[in-house]
Amino acid sequence: VAGRLLRTVDVVVIGGKIVSEFGILENVGIAIESGRIASIACPSHLPSASTTIDASSKLVIPGVVDAHCHSQTPGFNMEDYEHVTAAAAAGGVTTLQDHPINIPPTTTAENMRLKLSIAQRESYVDFCLLGGVLPENLQEISRLAELGVTGYKAPMVELLPDTVPKLSDGELFEAFQTISATSLRVGVHAENEQIISHLTKKLRKLGRRDPLAHIESRPPISEYEAVRRAVLLAREVGCKLHIFHLSIPEGAEAVRSAGNEGLDASCETCPHYLLLDSESMIQLAGLAKINPPLRDKTRIAKLWEALREGSINIVASDHAPFFKEEKMKEDVFEVPAGIPSVQTMLPLMLSEGVGKGRLTMEKLTEILCSGPAKLFSIYPKKGVIRVGSDADIVVLDLKSEDTIRSDGMHYKVGWTPYDGWKVKGRIEKTIVRGEVVAEKGEITGSKGHGEFVTPKTKAEDLRN
Ligand SMILES: [Zn+2]
Repeated sequence: VAGRLLRTVDVVVIGGKIVSEFGILENVGIAIESGRIASIACPSHLPSASTTIDASSKLVIPGVVDAHCHSQTPGFNMEDYEHVTAAAAAGGVTTLQDHPINIPPTTTAENMRLKLSIAQRESYVDFCLLGGVLPENLQEISRLAELGVTGYKAPMVELLPDTVPKLSDGELFEAFQTISATSLRVGVHAENEQIISHLTKKLRKLGRRDPLAHIESRPPISEYEAVRRAVLLAREVGCKLHIFHLSIPEGAEAVRSAGNEGLDASCETCPHYLLLDSESMIQLAGLAKINPPLRDKTRIAKLWEALREGSINIVASDHAPFFKEEKMKEDVFEVPAGIPSVQTMLPLMLSEGVGKGRLTMEKLTEILCSGPAKLFSIYPKKGVIRVGSDADIVVLDLKSEDTIRSDGMHYKVGWTPYDGWKVKGRIEKTIVRGEVVAEKGEITGSKGHGEFVTPKTKAEDLRN
């Protein structure tokens, strides 16, 4: 707590309870100057400010860092930076980590510069980029690191026909070796393509095209085997590993035991694996098609448990929208996999997680804010309310209730699988580096405010 500053700062946030790394603080405010947190102090010690944000009877948390978001940009028309970052802003996400699955994919320095130029022009919130791994781009790995990727994504199944193929085990192993030299983390989409394509062929032969056929074509073992294989290969070369969108608790267990044996391994799950189950697939059909698929209630209960006790490190949205017409095709195997999710993640995790007593508020900010920022080396710039950190802040009204509506979503595709869900708690304000970018669902920020966030260097890492 600093002494009263003589100068006037840009913004002070007063009156709210603050979720800090030291627990929940009362009777303190936050002073913001040049986009950073200048001080956290009791009101009488706060400097005067040009703008005062009154957060009385509200909760103030760090902005969410969404480690898994697909801007689908460039190369597709179902999403773009303007819409995805508007949705992020309205949903309390102040930094999104954009995945490289676009056309051209973010797998070369040149392609990365292209995406960066679009993102810097269009973004309402801050963003970081993952580099993609292809069978033939290993020479680009270090160049992508020089340009500031926060990590890499390596596909164990084909993610985009003709553009992002799966890596063979040999290619994956070599990619891990190359990436280990960058000290960045590599995340994998862990599924076993051979099991899946075999079962898909078999189900199609039987005439199955129904929603549940999708789930049957990708059984838990097809995910579990790939998680174990990724762990083995990463351990061999000492590469930091992350498992994206884990849907099975068995996978979390495998990652945890690898951690116990010294591997720096982490994993994430997503709101849909915690909130939707195989029965939702019957109701929502293709709208809920996602890879890996939704699982049964027993596994879901264990996923919540794994989250609570820390064997699942973070929750990320895996926001991957497609137009409703495509998602509603009769033949489930023709439906693209992915759901829009970035705007509803915080409200749902707040209501279904904290509101229903499954998570504490401190745990929520760990899995959505500081956890992802630490894994992808942007902490403590992001993910925490601390002096010196970026002033990325979300003001929550825990008392009000809200209903999620498709027409309230800022997505270009205009729908959400959670349409009609009632949530307790509401996002009042989203602040990115001192600027209020969204207020009660409306966008108040400016396009281009979002900045590119790069990972800390090794030297900085040693200091923190
Ligand atoms: Zn994804």
